[in-house]
Amino acid sequence: MIEIHYSDQDLWRHKYDVLVPTMGALHAGHESLIKIAKLNGKKVLVSIFVNPLQFESKEDLGNYPKSLERDIKTAENAGADGVFTPSESVVYPGVVSEVLAGEIGDLYEGKSRPKHFNGVLTVVKRLFELTSPNSAIFGEKDYQQLFLIRKMVKELNLPVNIISAPTVRDANGLALSSRNIFLDDNQKKSAQVIYRALQKSTIDEMNKILSTEPNFKLDYLEIIDADTFLKADKTTQNKRAIIAGWINQVRLIDNMAVRAQS
Ligand code: AMP
Repeated sequence: MIEIHYSDQDLWRHKYDVLVPTMGALHAGHESLIKIAKLNGKKVLVSIFVNPLQFESKEDLGNYPKSLERDIKTAENAGADGVFTPSESVVYPGVVSEVLAGEIGDLYEGKSRPKHFNGVLTVVKRLFELTSPNSAIFGEKDYQQLFLIRKMVKELNLPVNIISAPTVRDANGLALSSRNIFLDDNQKKSAQVIYRALQKSTIDEMNKILSTEPNFKLDYLEIIDADTFLKADKTTQNKRAIIAGWINQVRLIDNMAVRAQS
């Protein structure tokens, strides 16, 4: 039986090795993280906490899908040993010092979602403090998030090993996301344009593909150096294309390693 923890009180007795932080509404992307976590440690803890600090609007926070009972079953079936589902007062008791994401936190996702990454880093650091894992796993789906978490762990010397996991997609290439439930079938079809664009090796080619889909409203498209998150140039070895935009009101983000130009 999976253990359910509402506070950090008895967490230490369970000696969890790997933490899988999530905001719930679990899908196959989260399941894959749990399975990879299980390969990296004996006991896996999935946290489910919808972090108010990383939402810009109360409306977006209020609309975030919630399905705790189902999530617990999904986590258990994927091999998790425990679920940590703390209340806001457990995560943020009184004054909690905010982690600042710095300059890279103001680019791309951070430009469209001011303070978003401060909220993400603050909660991740708190979750690490509350659960003391040896390792924690994050999806490449949120590539800028993964980059900033690795940077924080390095700079603050946090004793947690960061594992990354590849993006899980549906059969048509659409990256799984808790927000996809807000897309109808036609909109999902429109959203496939993101994956088609990411197959290309230049910004121009990607833009050309994106412009064929009138329902997709582009926010940003860039090829960055995956090691610095700065704009890639001719000398960049490790290139990553990052994309964000909207279909209707639904924000979608994705990224992929860029193939060398042939
Ligand atoms: P979230 O619940 O959206 O905060 O996501 C929790 C974790 O799952 C984060 O590390 C995400 O990067 C990861 N994740 C979300 N979607 C996917 C996906 N399609 N494939 C792999 N990991 C994902």
